[in-house]
Amino acid sequence: MFLKGRKLFPGQPYLPVKSAIIRYVTGCSVQFLLKVLRVNSQVGLPMDILKKIRILKSIDILSFLHEATLERLAEESLELTLLPQEILFNEGEEGKTMYIILNGEVRIFKKELEITVMGSGAIFGEMALIEKQPRSASVQALDQVDLIEINEEQFQRYFAGQPQVLMALMKTMSARFRRSLGNPSPIPMMVEDSGNPLEKLDRMEEPVFMLNANTFQLLKGSPPAIDLFGYAQEEISDMNFLDFLEQINETALKTLIAPLLNQTRSQSMTETDFKKKSGETLPVEIRIRLAPSDNAVPMVMAWMSDISGRKHIEDTIRQMAYYDSLTGLPNRNLLNDRLAVALARARRNKERVAIMFLDLDNFKTINDTLGHDMGDLLLKDVARKLQHTLRQEDTVARMGGDEFIVIAPEIKSTEDASVLAQKILQQFEEAICIEDQELYVGCSIGISTFPEDGSDGKTLLKNADMALYRAKDRGKNNFQLYTPALNFKAMERMAIERNLRKAVDRDEFDLVYQPKVELATGKITGIEGLVRWDSPELGRVMPVAFIPVAEDTRIIVQIGAWTIKRACQQIREWIDDGLPPVSIAINLSAVQFAHPQLLKEVQTALSDYDVNPDYLQLEITETILMKDTDLAVDILRQLGDLGIKAALDDFGTGYSSLNYLKNLPIHYLKIDRTFVQDFSQDTNSAITKTIVGLGRSLGLISIAEGIETEEQKQFLLGIGCEEGQGYLFSPPVSSEEMTKLLQEKKVY
Ligand code: C2E
Ligand code: CA
Ligand code: CA
Repeated sequence: MFLKGRKLFPGQPYLPVKSAIIRYVTGCSVQFLLKVLRVNSQVGLPMDILKKIRILKSIDILSFLHEATLERLAEESLELTLLPQEILFNEGEEGKTMYIILNGEVRIFKKELEITVMGSGAIFGEMALIEKQPRSASVQALDQVDLIEINEEQFQRYFAGQPQVLMALMKTMSARFRRSLGNPSPIPMMVEDSGNPLEKLDRMEEPVFMLNANTFQLLKGSPPAIDLFGYAQEEISDMNFLDFLEQINETALKTLIAPLLNQTRSQSMTETDFKKKSGETLPVEIRIRLAPSDNAVPMVMAWMSDISGRKHIEDTIRQMAYYDSLTGLPNRNLLNDRLAVALARARRNKERVAIMFLDLDNFKTINDTLGHDMGDLLLKDVARKLQHTLRQEDTVARMGGDEFIVIAPEIKSTEDASVLAQKILQQFEEAICIEDQELYVGCSIGISTFPEDGSDGKTLLKNADMALYRAKDRGKNNFQLYTPALNFKAMERMAIERNLRKAVDRDEFDLVYQPKVELATGKITGIEGLVRWDSPELGRVMPVAFIPVAEDTRIIVQIGAWTIKRACQQIREWIDDGLPPVSIAINLSAVQFAHPQLLKEVQTALSDYDVNPDYLQLEITETILMKDTDLAVDILRQLGDLGIKAALDDFGTGYSSLNYLKNLPIHYLKIDRTFVQDFSQDTNSAITKTIVGLGRSLGLISIAEGIETEEQKQFLLGIGCEEGQGYLFSPPVSSEEMTKLLQEKKVY
């Protein structure tokens, strides 16, 4: 009777019992070790670790591991020797270890049935480890056998995270399964046997179907076949073999059977799902052979093997290879795959991808003070939170420890990525409740975006990591973009958005005024009102910085309503002051222009301040017109009916055809300042000339924007431009200053 090494007390992992020699490998050859131990057991001498690594390396499934990893595995794993006939373990026993044979042969058997013999380089015992089930067979040494034992923790560390290793393992296991299914032994007998094969089928102990080799019409099933799939014998004789096969069509089946008919092959094999009577499917392996036939119709027999066990293991291994066992999130391997796919797609569609590197801020403290179990629960909860916050198309993966990675494809801008990061951070503001404890765990995020911050996954991950480093440096619980300049912009935008929401209620806006001047006489013909935001947090904010944010968040609708009111109020003040009436033109955004309340607001403001519609003008851009021309024309008409004149702002920057202008209810063309400022360039001066000429032919008044020099003014005068606006005359000024200019009857 031989005993196995058994764990006796902590500190000494295994005690060698009787002849089994077990010790931590420190680096000497197995043979040598054996010799020494025979003489003087327990004394370990340095072993030739390189030789051991060489053996390990030659083993199929380990060949994918790095040299350094193999070295560590060789050092850490337990080595044991079995003497001839020694039993390593018995069927039905609990076992959470797997083995690699270094030397010698073992016999694997179930009850009295021998399954196989394995030699050097083979692995066994892994099924119990992966499936967490009792041993499915017994193992006995045939001669003296040297083994390496790998425990659960080592398996997780060295194998579970390595898809190649796992896939190799899976291949080995599949092959073994296939072997253990055995050869269809009755076949040769059947083929040689004359007599009615259909009758023979009744006596067969394996699930076998007989079918017409040409039509695939089923003729009969063996009793086990009937049992396995749940059909009655009468039912199947009406059916076609193809009716049962999920992934195999007629052509595929023909391809399998043809070589049997022309005798170039004796057996064909395939795998598919088989539809059972109950509606369920069963994964099967089918082996097909020609059946002896008395009549002219060729028949084949199909041996059906249930391979659900193998499939299950394959699924488990796949799960191990690609998912994190604690959180169920994709692991590093799947992340790399997904990232590659996302980048390829983004490259093709010219889209962006954001990569976020997340790291919990005080996870280590929680883990150290509350224990690993709490830490694990926390990580699970964090995983749930992240999944909940992200969109379907985003991937969140766990990189190990408290590090997570998010891939967000199809983001439009870096700002989108910032918004997403902000959303994630918000999630972490609330406490996480675990076992009646409220835990506050912060998180830092580093972001890189494709294509700006890198063209391949490796670079992008590295850069996101660098950004994360900076985020941690900034005092945690924040995010950083890889490109610092964008960072600033993103931060600024976030600050703007946060404060803008309060700005309307706190009445933080101001209107400033810039005179429009008749170029020939220098007289003020009207005034453009331009909005400013005086934020207590951010200071005076210019429209370029906050109008786009206000548009995105639709806060512009309220700002616009305020502007209209403020303009009317100002006009009323000037009238009340006895100044000569002057018009104020205000700017409308697209969102505001299409807003159903616009007309109402204008009417209300005009009547509230008792202002003649002649004195309120509106400026809209070409883009607004081009978005929905019919709607825009409609709104302009209604405004026109109220008596309000409109100007086409920034003219020349859009791509609209000049021709459509004649149908528009507008009165002024504002020539964009880029044409004015670059007028010395021939093309621009030509465009400017054309615009002015066109305006005149349509009866529109041209107003040149951004006149800064006398030279520009003279050029514009020369081409017949009527009005102008710009620093040459006056920058936008406050209400008080504008009042003064009006009182002075300022002439430029
Ligand atoms: P805009 O309608 O083209 O306004 C003219 C801009 O040119 C103003 O900038 C003005 O200060 C500037 N400007 C005037 N003269 C000169 C000059 O000689 N040289 C140069 N370089 N610039 C000059 P501001 O006030 O920063 O406004 C920028 C833009 O913001 C405006 O362009 C307009 O599109 C938008 N905006 C301003 N106020 C409002 C508003 O109340 N509502 C909406 N929706 N948009 C507004
Ligand atoms: Ca304007
Ligand atoms: Ca303009």
